[in-house]
Amino acid sequence: MAANGDDAPVHVLLFPFPMGSHAVPMLDLAQLLLTRGLKVTVLVTPPNVPLVDSLRQSHPPSSIETLVLPPPEATPIPNLFRPVAFMNSLRKLHDPIRQWFQSHPSPPVAIVSDFFLGWTQYLAAELGVPRVVFWTGGAIDAALMNSMFRDLPKVDNPNDENSILSLPNLPNSPTYAWWQVSPIYQQYKEGDPNWEIKRNSMLGNIQCWGALINTFEELEKVYIDHLKGEMGHDRVWPVGPLLPPEDDKAGSAKRGGASSVPVEVLMSWLDEKREDSVVYVCFGSRFVLSDQQVASLAAALESSGVDFIWVVKEDEVRSMPGGFEDLVAGRGFVIKGWAPQVPILRHRAVGAFVTHCGWNSTMEAITAGVLLLTWPLGADQFTNAKLLVDELGAAVRFSEVGTRAVPDSGEMARLLKESVGAERAEERGRVKELSKAASEAPKGGSSSRSLDGFIQRLRELKNVKST
Ligand code: UDP
Repeated sequence: MAANGDDAPVHVLLFPFPMGSHAVPMLDLAQLLLTRGLKVTVLVTPPNVPLVDSLRQSHPPSSIETLVLPPPEATPIPNLFRPVAFMNSLRKLHDPIRQWFQSHPSPPVAIVSDFFLGWTQYLAAELGVPRVVFWTGGAIDAALMNSMFRDLPKVDNPNDENSILSLPNLPNSPTYAWWQVSPIYQQYKEGDPNWEIKRNSMLGNIQCWGALINTFEELEKVYIDHLKGEMGHDRVWPVGPLLPPEDDKAGSAKRGGASSVPVEVLMSWLDEKREDSVVYVCFGSRFVLSDQQVASLAAALESSGVDFIWVVKEDEVRSMPGGFEDLVAGRGFVIKGWAPQVPILRHRAVGAFVTHCGWNSTMEAITAGVLLLTWPLGADQFTNAKLLVDELGAAVRFSEVGTRAVPDSGEMARLLKESVGAERAEERGRVKELSKAASEAPKGGSSSRSLDGFIQRLRELKNVKST
């Protein structure tokens, strides 16, 4: 039988945005698709090739291909937000992908690509295959992005960063201060050709055939339903939380970086602590606190008296007060660099998490049943924090100042103490409920059924092609 015969596996192209926290959940998705018998090609840029290593090692070469394409040079464009220049530059991969696809003996039946790669919608149309947008953030962020780039809502005075942006067409009609809005939209300039390219790409996410989201029904039903209504069909599949399996210690320790501390050392340290007694502090892979913010947080951790693990980035280390680690010896573990976040959150001793509310961190904490203390800094994080605190009741506001000011260390110390005490029993109870739903969703629950539905639709596409 030829490779593209009836019994050949369904082949799908996965195209993650080339950035760790976008690529990692898509590779978790790849793992699920491979386990269910699909053939997967992952398109990566050279620095991300190692991210695919563990998948390649655990599946036969016939079921996983890596398509390595170099990222085109992203020439900085004056006055254009740099990430947008990079996103736009990736469109130059259009022709190499088309050539690969057209010369493949058994090409993919669908293209699944990150929401920052909305232009692949037009490529897929040219190739005659459906495109599925992969939302690495929540359904709430997907709804927000779609609404903003389609409707172009305005604030009264864009020069006043406290002007209010209203989104009456979204569930719960949210409002945001202009400074809290993602720069991807905040910096949009109507009529500017580079920004219009970006907008056109984002609009491709509404027009596409389907959507996969790293979330689960029990967490964001209202936003998932909203997206279905907006896209005009029900091919919207929440398949999260996308996480490494519990027994995959290597994958869960890495999550896009190599741990700066041996995992066993940390786990033994945590083993000595009481259940839900340790606060974990980490602000994701990209955001760096200011010198004053680092100093204030250090003062809060010291005076709170709580047990904690604090991930301090290379660029933040110099702002730590001298002698800090000696002062907190025994109860504070400082990791300089990259932490094995998933194993830390999964440890029974970790009870609270000071987080910037990046979506991966949010999913990881909810699944582990750890109370979130929110300090959003940018991107979709203000939206996520609002969802967690106001709608889900599973988190406590820790800081509202983003990157603009220095939160009060006394107030932070009080919240740290409360987070591992009896005061926050209600929020902790809520996060434990969500944790149960998050754990069940991919194991035969709502996300598992959703993934089955997605795969079934892909099989139907393949059958149509082979008849
Ligand atoms: N992460 C980690 N160790 C670190 C910092 C981050 O393992 O020291 C992982 C974390 O577990 C999560 C991802 O990096 O999977 C961060 O993604 P998120 O969406 O939370 O935030 P971003 O980095 O995109 O701001």
